[in-house]
Amino acid sequence: MLKADILNIGSAEPMQGGTRRAFMLGMAGAALGGTLLSPSAADARSAEPETAGDDASVLIPARPWKVAFEEHYMTPHFSRVIRGDTKVTGETSVYDLLLDVGAQRVDTMNKAGIQYAILSLNTPGIQGESDPTTAVRDAQFANDELRHIVDQNPGRFGGFAALPMQNPRAAADELERAVRQLGFHAPLVNSFSNISGDDGVTFLDEPQYEPFWERLQDLNVPLYLHPRNPVRSQQLMFRDHPELLAATWAYLVETSTHALRLITSGLFDRFPNVRICLGHLGESLPFMAWRISAVYGRHAHHVKLQKDIASYLKTNFLYTTSGFFDTTATREVMKLVGRDRVFFSTDYPWMDMVQGGRWLDTAALSNAEKWKIGRTNAVELFNLKLAPVA
Ligand code: MN
Repeated sequence: MLKADILNIGSAEPMQGGTRRAFMLGMAGAALGGTLLSPSAADARSAEPETAGDDASVLIPARPWKVAFEEHYMTPHFSRVIRGDTKVTGETSVYDLLLDVGAQRVDTMNKAGIQYAILSLNTPGIQGESDPTTAVRDAQFANDELRHIVDQNPGRFGGFAALPMQNPRAAADELERAVRQLGFHAPLVNSFSNISGDDGVTFLDEPQYEPFWERLQDLNVPLYLHPRNPVRSQQLMFRDHPELLAATWAYLVETSTHALRLITSGLFDRFPNVRICLGHLGESLPFMAWRISAVYGRHAHHVKLQKDIASYLKTNFLYTTSGFFDTTATREVMKLVGRDRVFFSTDYPWMDMVQGGRWLDTAALSNAEKWKIGRTNAVELFNLKLAPVA
């Protein structure tokens, strides 16, 4: 449980009169000189409805209250494979921020108004290891290491499991261990996995993963499908334009394609309760859903799907705002897929966590919507037991 001294950072003053609809800016707002107002305990309890209701009933507390779950870290053990793929060097500030899993990160979370961050090993993580035996061993090591990190700040950090998809059976076993024994909330897989050399890859729609999907569905946890760069032999379209690799554009192409492979393989007809979480507001897929569905539906295909493609994007996918702090786009995605399926996240340290937190704080969304995508959707999805923020 959260230690009281960690959370005791907000003003406990009673609410000033006549501002029931006022949005509390939180720590970030305080730093900016915004008015700090705190609801009474009773008001705060009523501010956690099952569903976002009347905006007038939702008060945003001054203390860190958000949940974020595309938040990355790494440890010295994984420096080699992660630096090889993402070109993080000891000279970049991101490198130090990835390695910080203690007080400095918690301090940044306070500034961003984030109460609870679910941490994941930085891309490509275990997926970048081409030797299956090493992948299995490293995934176990990573998850034990992450459990230790979480144990240092259990009220502020949670864990996503790293999985050795190079060995599907071992990946299923490690997922079960991570969820049942380590208390992790879900797995995060960095898209395709290397196997048999740097250009050999395996995608999650391939038949060897059937036992894995069965286990994921039984455990009733979503899978976060996170991007990585395409392998070198697949980077021809980026020739002479390395600036378009990674998060600028290549991640979107790679991960949205992987997600579509899952749909068109019929995965969600075989496992209707499997849920995939995508970052970056869905890697463009909600915006493209109509067109993909329309064009796909004009032709017969090897796998006959039970539903149109847009339907799967509304029933089997979840979306975070990681690295995409744009209110217009967020509103559109909420309209396209439903606001129950949209979640706040920041993509720290690749994006600025405080910028992300302040964006949601000040976005032109109702308090009810902020509370829902910033907190209660995640609480329900992962059955989180968070300390009260009143
Ligand atoms: Mn990320």
